[in-house]
Amino acid sequence: MINTATEINSSTGVSDAAAPTDASNAPPATITFADFGLDPKIQKAVLEQGYTIPTPIQAQSIPHVLAGSDLMGAAQTGTGKTAAFVLPIIQKILRHASSSASPARHPIRALVLTPTRELAVQVSENAASYSKHTDLRAAVVYGGVDMKEQVAILRNGVEILIATPGRLLDHIGSKVANLSQVEILVLDEADRMLDMGFLPDLQRIIDLIPAQRQTLLFSATFSPEIKKLAQSYLRTPVTVEVARQNAAADTVKQVVHMVSSADKQRAIVQVLEARTRQGLSRQCIIFTNSRLGCAKLSRALERDGIKAGAIHGDKSQGERTLTLDAFKSGAIEALVATDVAARGLDIPDMPCVINHELPYNAEDFIHRIGRTGRAGSKGDAIALVDASEKRLLDDIEKLMKRKLDVKPLPEGAPSPSRSTSSRSSSSAPAKMSDPFFYKPYEPSTPPVAASDNAKLEEKKVGITPAKPAVGALLGGFKKK
Ligand code: AMP
Repeated sequence: MINTATEINSSTGVSDAAAPTDASNAPPATITFADFGLDPKIQKAVLEQGYTIPTPIQAQSIPHVLAGSDLMGAAQTGTGKTAAFVLPIIQKILRHASSSASPARHPIRALVLTPTRELAVQVSENAASYSKHTDLRAAVVYGGVDMKEQVAILRNGVEILIATPGRLLDHIGSKVANLSQVEILVLDEADRMLDMGFLPDLQRIIDLIPAQRQTLLFSATFSPEIKKLAQSYLRTPVTVEVARQNAAADTVKQVVHMVSSADKQRAIVQVLEARTRQGLSRQCIIFTNSRLGCAKLSRALERDGIKAGAIHGDKSQGERTLTLDAFKSGAIEALVATDVAARGLDIPDMPCVINHELPYNAEDFIHRIGRTGRAGSKGDAIALVDASEKRLLDDIEKLMKRKLDVKPLPEGAPSPSRSTSSRSSSSAPAKMSDPFFYKPYEPSTPPVAASDNAKLEEKKVGITPAKPAVGALLGGFKKK
């Protein structure tokens, strides 16, 4: 079963037949992909993926999307939400499928907007798999890479386009992308797009799409901002909610280790050694709050004999892909990542997530630990918490409405008071001498051509983390 689905919004109007019935919200056994009436070409692709039973979000969303309703889906990555919108989209636009080579026969019919290039790639890979037996074309465009290849693909024509907002606007500006025939718009991880300041870009894009369209919005939570966005752009949407808001999957075992900042790097080594002793996989994602911290920690872990790789916003797309591939193949066991870079990564059966620092935004914690315990598998989420992060921990516990277990580090761990050599200073708290924390925030009005990633990193790294980090250093972290 995919991720636990613990709350169903009773006001969804979802038919009883499609609504999961038990506490775990597993869809009733009677529902199969065949029940959706999907074209055999789509069903064949689904079968080839090895899917037999729709996940709760799929069981609930697909009938509504097929019926033409606008939809708000509260579901996180890992619940099967991509297929929940991509499969019915393929079904709905299949009537336009054409084997003609003429670009005019392949206008953009469905547009999926995502906050990050990683998620965009992920969605496009799924779209390509699910549509592979049809004549529909799926493609992805995102910032941070050369435009030429994307231009060629767009000029050839594509029915399903997955895009990050900034780069799509670039292509629209150079008249390579035309949205006048879009029938279905998907705002994927809409909460994240708002967090990242994409609202103006979204507004510009949506203004170019015919008003007569179907709009689907997926978000981890339905914050007031998301509800406002939905009010502006969705028409009487059906609401489908399969993951309890602000909760981690029940399959994730969470533990907190109180560790001084100076000892955190060593603590990671101890945690991984303990996992080896217990016969558990050492594969883990380690979250850090800054690009600089991410790069430094990765290098420091490598010096400690851990096969580590870093993935953050300063890395090129090529570098990110290489690192991710190495991680997936097992050549790298510890993927050190910032939130931004890790967003949307689909890493199946991720056994362990380690928070090297707690995020400043409690919701990010849920996203981070959502990398494990996915698709029903078991996962460990370990948070290394320094005394100065206590307030952040309180915020997280408040959001999750539960206390996290605080446990001593596994045997052989450094004592919390011990400081480490300069070699491990990479995991120490941000120093005032650290140029990253001195980087002044410069409000920018990025041109349309600015890469999505540059914009994102400015938002995530330039503004938010710097203030609390410095505040924490001064011993007086104040909540915004
Ligand atoms: P997503 O939430 O869309 O990122 O999907 C998470 C993972 O679940 C992906 O690896 C999908 O391939 C997988 N998945 C999606 N739907 C199903 C299904 N019905 N049965 C099994 N796995 C699925």
